[in-house]
Amino acid sequence: MRELTYVGPGKLEWREVAAPKIDGAGQALVRPLAVATCDLDTLLLRGEAPMFGGGFPLGHESVGVVVEVGDGVTAFKAGDRVVPSFQISCGSCDRCRRGLTGNCERVRGTGMYGIGALGGNFGGALSDLMKIPYADAMLVAMPDGLAAADMASAADNIPDAWRTVAPMLRDNPGAPVLIVGGGSIGLYAIQIALACGASRVDYVDDNSGRLKLASELGASVREGPPPKKTGPYPITVAACATQAGMLCAIRSTAPGGVCTNCGIHPGETTPMPLFDMYITGMTFVTGRGHPRTVIPEVLELARAGKIQPALVTSQVVSWDDAIPALLDPPTKLVIAR
Ligand SMILES: [Zn+2]
Ligand SMILES: [Zn+2]
Repeated sequence: MRELTYVGPGKLEWREVAAPKIDGAGQALVRPLAVATCDLDTLLLRGEAPMFGGGFPLGHESVGVVVEVGDGVTAFKAGDRVVPSFQISCGSCDRCRRGLTGNCERVRGTGMYGIGALGGNFGGALSDLMKIPYADAMLVAMPDGLAAADMASAADNIPDAWRTVAPMLRDNPGAPVLIVGGGSIGLYAIQIALACGASRVDYVDDNSGRLKLASELGASVREGPPPKKTGPYPITVAACATQAGMLCAIRSTAPGGVCTNCGIHPGETTPMPLFDMYITGMTFVTGRGHPRTVIPEVLELARAGKIQPALVTSQVVSWDDAIPALLDPPTKLVIAR
């Protein structure tokens, strides 16, 4: 089968490789129909995430169609349209049953598609077939009426945006939200926050294209590097991977508020204003999300017309045009067939 390999920054290749096969109970094979670049892929492709190395099949946000199921798969059959969770999770261990599917006890801590050995070598979504080891647990049925290309990010970045605002707005209805943007997650978070009843969303970014879109999505925008502090806001989001953006979100969190950081900050330690955080008694949330638990929530928001993820998509290209588009990735690229 054909598989797109991320050789390294600036180098991508379609390679012919052996197709995965079902070799155990509970597995399924899925043919990806639409694949989106995760904000992490954008950093990788720009050479800004060297810790992941190279030489692996790319892609982990996808919508596909089930091609084959193995013994023991009861919830899906060939022909079903599905969102495969980007992380590998069994659905039955203690942590999975508590919704912590990003920390499944049966899988290495970072088990996921599209990052090679660091993710456990499960393959990538930019391929003709993906092997789904725990199909009944990892797949979510796509509602009729939603297009695969529109929901290609439902496996990862849309749920990642949901977790930054939706639970907090349930606890604090109508609260205003601050989002420090830097990729697609902050833009999805605008839509979700407004859909979940935020009284306003203020959005900070230095990218004019994202600012224009943020404004169209209903946010009040502020252009330029993140200020040291603004607000304060009961709900803040660092949907960027910069130290300055994260510090702005932390310092702008109101007493008792919640700041969620989606960015990856490599290095042994990262400076934090712990004294300020102590004084405000805020909660700081970071870490990989648990998208499998959240995918049904975001699909329902989209099915009900409360969010329109396609508005965040910068560009849709065909499978054969994937490489040139990926070499200069926009904020949100979707590759569809
Ligand atoms: Zn991702
Ligand atoms: Zn598990």
